[in-house]
Amino acid sequence: MKRFIYADNAATTPLDPSAFEAMKPYLLQEYGNASQPYSLARQPKKALREARESIARCIGAAPEEIFFTSGGTESDNWAIKGSAFSNANGSSILTSAFEHHAVLHACRAMERMGASVRYLSPSADGQISPDALRAQLSAPIHLASIMFANNEIGSIQPIQELCEIVHEHGAVFHTDAVQAVGHIPIDVERLGVDLLSASAHKFNGPKGVGFLFVRRGTPLSPYLDGGAQERGMRAGTENVAGIVGMARALSANVSEMADHRRHLRNLERQLLEGLRAGGIAFSRNGGTCTLPGLLSLSFPNADGEALLHRLDLMGIAVSTGSACNSQRTEISHVLKAIKLEESLARGTIRISLGRENTEADVTAIVQGLSKILTSP
Ligand code: PLP
Repeated sequence: MKRFIYADNAATTPLDPSAFEAMKPYLLQEYGNASQPYSLARQPKKALREARESIARCIGAAPEEIFFTSGGTESDNWAIKGSAFSNANGSSILTSAFEHHAVLHACRAMERMGASVRYLSPSADGQISPDALRAQLSAPIHLASIMFANNEIGSIQPIQELCEIVHEHGAVFHTDAVQAVGHIPIDVERLGVDLLSASAHKFNGPKGVGFLFVRRGTPLSPYLDGGAQERGMRAGTENVAGIVGMARALSANVSEMADHRRHLRNLERQLLEGLRAGGIAFSRNGGTCTLPGLLSLSFPNADGEALLHRLDLMGIAVSTGSACNSQRTEISHVLKAIKLEESLARGTIRISLGRENTEADVTAIVQGLSKILTSP
């Protein structure tokens, strides 16, 4: 049977088997609604409490600062809209031009409701510089939202420094850490962030579940109104199995993080050296501080879309941009934001390696790319 090589871990990751095992009892036997007072709710309620404590430990938060959501998109929408709704003096947001659409489109929605939104441009290597941020803060803002690590090019931002600057101006700081949580160390105490979004399926947890870290005392209105779940801040019957799986996957990834990072950096090196040894012309986007295993590679005058499909025929899954806009052939807003030359942007693919990938996978990816790029 042909082996399938999955190299699109920034789009989603396979479920950790131990997370699946942890989830099963809450799908089959312990299905009680955690908000009910009877005994069938006791175990689900306990599981929610333990999951909250475990997730809080993984990011240096207090358990009461973790709010469960349906994933990264909801967490981002809640952070942006909830902080605008809680601000009686009219909202003014500062964000960056290369955020995920969950942030950009939430900001657009707030603009349609009268908020003012300003967009910072990243540098060519995908960095939001502290100086660029300072220059935008002469007019007051109530919220800054800057992503932790970019999902297309992998560049990691100096979040602690950016957050300090925003706090000096009295505003709330949100970071979309969907690509970072479970992959690089995160300590919300040290970083100082007020709001932080995460999504389980990006760190080997199940799809459709995530969380928002809300620092104690941060002004934030509920986004989903209804029942009293999540201390009245996020209505809706809790996805107990999903939350349990998320907590299990996160603690597994955090405890093995150093080994995973070492493994992924070795695979990255192998891939880049393999392409160079094969005489393939390419450039890498995202600068020198990138997420482990994420490579945004531009091949001059190639067609990224065609590369994706030809690799797919070889049993190799990569992406041309973020999963959310792979239906469109136009140059992604991220590559536009870093002002990548058009002939390079059109020939860009994202290879995002995960902990399951092997040296043999990387050899096959290099061979596949070499074959496509050297034969007309
Ligand atoms: N933010 C970033 C940076 C992402 O990469 C993604 C998913 O691709 C999201 C938000 C949305 O997360 P979810 O798929 O959990 O809604």
